[in-house]
Amino acid sequence: MADYVISDASQDEKDLISKDGLSATQLLSSGNGLTYNDFIILPGYIDFTANVVDLSSPLTKKIILKLPLVSSPMDTVTESEMAIAMALSGGIGIIHNNCTAEYQANEVQKVKKYEHGFIRDPVVLSPNHTVLDVRNVKTKHGFCGIPITENGKLGGRLVGIVTSRDIDFLEDTSSQQNLKLENVMTRLNNLITGAFGVTLKEANSILEKSKKGKLPIVNNNGELVALMARTDLKKNRSYPNASKDENKQLLVGAAIGTREEDKDRLRLLAASKVDVIVLDSSQGNSQYQMNMIKYIKSKYPEVQVIAGNIVTRMQARNLIRAGADGLRVGMGSGSSCITQEVTAVGRAQATAVYSVSDYARNFGVPVIADGGIQTIGHIIKALSLGASTVMMGSLLAGTSEAPGEYFFSDGVRLKKYRGMGSLDAMNRKDASGSAMDRYFHNEMDKLKVAQGVSGSIVDKGTVLKFLPYLQCGIRHGCHDIGAKSVSTLHHMIHSEEVKFERRTQSAQLEGNVHSLFSHEKRLY
Ligand code: GDP
Ligand code: GDP
Ligand code: GDP
Ligand code: 5GP
Repeated sequence: MADYVISDASQDEKDLISKDGLSATQLLSSGNGLTYNDFIILPGYIDFTANVVDLSSPLTKKIILKLPLVSSPMDTVTESEMAIAMALSGGIGIIHNNCTAEYQANEVQKVKKYEHGFIRDPVVLSPNHTVLDVRNVKTKHGFCGIPITENGKLGGRLVGIVTSRDIDFLEDTSSQQNLKLENVMTRLNNLITGAFGVTLKEANSILEKSKKGKLPIVNNNGELVALMARTDLKKNRSYPNASKDENKQLLVGAAIGTREEDKDRLRLLAASKVDVIVLDSSQGNSQYQMNMIKYIKSKYPEVQVIAGNIVTRMQARNLIRAGADGLRVGMGSGSSCITQEVTAVGRAQATAVYSVSDYARNFGVPVIADGGIQTIGHIIKALSLGASTVMMGSLLAGTSEAPGEYFFSDGVRLKKYRGMGSLDAMNRKDASGSAMDRYFHNEMDKLKVAQGVSGSIVDKGTVLKFLPYLQCGIRHGCHDIGAKSVSTLHHMIHSEEVKFERRTQSAQLEGNVHSLFSHEKRLY
């Protein structure tokens, strides 16, 4: 097999072969800004099947995703529903901040509460609470498996459990609603419990064998310390690639600005156990951002910080020095964005991604390629230029998990999509003010200058089907390049094994569908 491996070829052979294509450095050092469409990747050598390609890749210094995809912190893209779907599929969602701090922190909490190993802060009631109290928990939180302790609190002595089956057939009459839980609960002597100190694996096995929906965990004194839900075993089986923390809770990020008042927002987000903070700024190389990075790293060392946005090595240098755990790259390449038109500042995205990645890899800081992703091919190109993950707005907007209602226009089912710097987003009525930070730089500014537009996107169905399509496509791209994993791909860029070529306008036309009278483009 070694006969086919280029690194084993003689120097003469290598010289002959290397006449094809350019290395990434050669491609991107011409001084022209390139976009993803301006180049193509040449095929490599395949000795594996596409389905074994490992897409694991770091989001930050400490967080590795099994699917290198991130949903953008935009109010028409990521709230809890999108973030849950992204994390279940192996990626991550960043909750936007065009809302009050309380709303944003609550969205983060919904993601963290979606799935658990041990539920360490379960909702608990006392025997004197009523059936109505349980129904209220169901309305507010969506579950009704509730351990009952003497004092109605976690840490109190466990006396029973109430689940949906205990109250399903009770009527809505006031006598039934006011029935005390001591009359409907299953009492302690009939309960199967786990002992404090049990491992997750052991507890899962007890839960499985018990055939019950919940497993209360108690200490030697019979006091409740945690709860486990059978549903979570099923969720784990259905989504084996899910991005989770050490307690099997889904990973989630949240965006904030760099003003003083963002420290309050940060406090609430940290209390909700957010895993990653994204500093949302269109030009991230600022003193405000350095200060905020340092503040977060000293006050909340467990939280990972992604800084940006940036497009040059010089910008990257400063953010890395300030302690950033990841860098978000892109300025003016987003689909709904008019920054380059309005401010004349920015950079073509392929050049930006390559330049920053090439610099940041020396410090072990992963790069997110943010904006301008229209196809799977663009994702593969971003990864092939050194990005570790890819952030998307428009590609994920229009799915059922994106915030907002569908509407019809000329018979087409659409959802709204807007730039966070559009007047529409900046004027959002319930905005807390800080939401406008990113594009409305100066509080003294009397006039808002839009850096984004507002539009719509065609219905794409659920992201839970769309993401597996993207995943499969990325694997095929890596396969054709001859990279068995994203980390191999990165290694191959630096060893100049991956070859690129510029595409002329006509080459780009040739690379798309042409010469057909009509065609239907169904993607999956
Ligand atoms: P792996 O299963 O060894 O690849 O590693 P994981 O970290 O996914 O799982 C370790 C243990 O945790 C296994 O026993 C899993 O069944 C269990 N586990 C994983 N996710 C969850 C979850 O969300 N809830 C519960 N209760 N257990 C989980
Ligand atoms: P239930 O039977 O109505 O309690 O609901 P399920 O067991 O089907 O689902 C409960 C889901 O909510 C699981 O994924 C839990 O991890 C999650 N959850 C989060 N916090 C709590 C909590 O305080 N109590 C319960 N029972 N579940 C919680
Ligand atoms: P479901 O979520 O309603 O399907 O509830 P479970 O399967 O947890 O419980 C079904 C019934 O068994 C309810 O009446 C519970 O109160 C009762 N039950 C009896 N023993 C246990 C136990 O050890 N654990 C739990 N969770 N429920 C028990
Ligand atoms: P898309 O995937 O739609 O091409 O780009 C999404 C990215 O565009 C976002 O992650 C964000 O970086 C950027 N973006 C979002 N809204 C605006 C805006 O109003 N103006 C600018 N300049 N960029 C935006």
